[in-house]
Amino acid sequence: MIIHVLTIFPDMFKYPLHQGILEKAQERGYVDINIHNLRDFADDRRGTTDDTPYGGGCGMVMKPEPVYKAVDHIKRKYNIETENVSVILVCPQGERFNQDMAKELKEKHTLIFICGRYEGVDERIRNLADREISIGDYVLTGGELPAMVVIDTVVRLIPGVVGNQDSIKTDSFFGPSLGYPQYTKPPVFRGLEVPQVLLSGNHNQIDLWRKKKSLERTRLRRPDILKN
Ligand code: SAM
Repeated sequence: MIIHVLTIFPDMFKYPLHQGILEKAQERGYVDINIHNLRDFADDRRGTTDDTPYGGGCGMVMKPEPVYKAVDHIKRKYNIETENVSVILVCPQGERFNQDMAKELKEKHTLIFICGRYEGVDERIRNLADREISIGDYVLTGGELPAMVVIDTVVRLIPGVVGNQDSIKTDSFFGPSLGYPQYTKPPVFRGLEVPQVLLSGNHNQIDLWRKKKSLERTRLRRPDILKN
């Protein structure tokens, strides 16, 4: 998979995308992540990417030209056909991101993320996007963290990225329930014991216990998923 991110704060991506599984996924060639500075596509020398809103009002709005230029440049340089590419505008008004959406995006060959800032983007930038994604009903200062959230979730699903694929299948939201409780050593910690069944070595019993706990937990914490 190839991922491109358009942002005015490329440095924000330096560390989060270069730790743990995400770093290994890039080293091993599962994903190629390219961060583009939108200021490089500005019309003036100062790298202006925002301007005041028509009609007045507070704050600034991201200009359309640098974003259009950047997307054209990426499509040309990387020889991108329209098929199997998704241009994603991260914005609080988009579809709410979830695991099913991540599974869909995992099937794409190329993802291009547009990160907004200020009061948001000029409305015409929406024409470039085939998808608008929100990471939740709250407003962040910019689209960089939302883009990172989506990238991390999608890359994790690419076969081979996580060593043991089964661990993904037992995650919360992969199936219709939340994940089961996990324990590691020691067997007793500050008086808190690991459930006996997990120490029994009886894998049928362990599977059964995990399924039961997973359902109990879902019923308690997220009954809405069980209904679905
Ligand atoms: N005025 C805009 C509105 O009411 O929808 C919010 C602008 S926000 C301060 C600046 C940028 O942050 C947005 O253009 C978007 O890229 C990003 N952003 C903020 N919250 C987000 C969220 N929940 N999900 C995805 N992107 C978000």
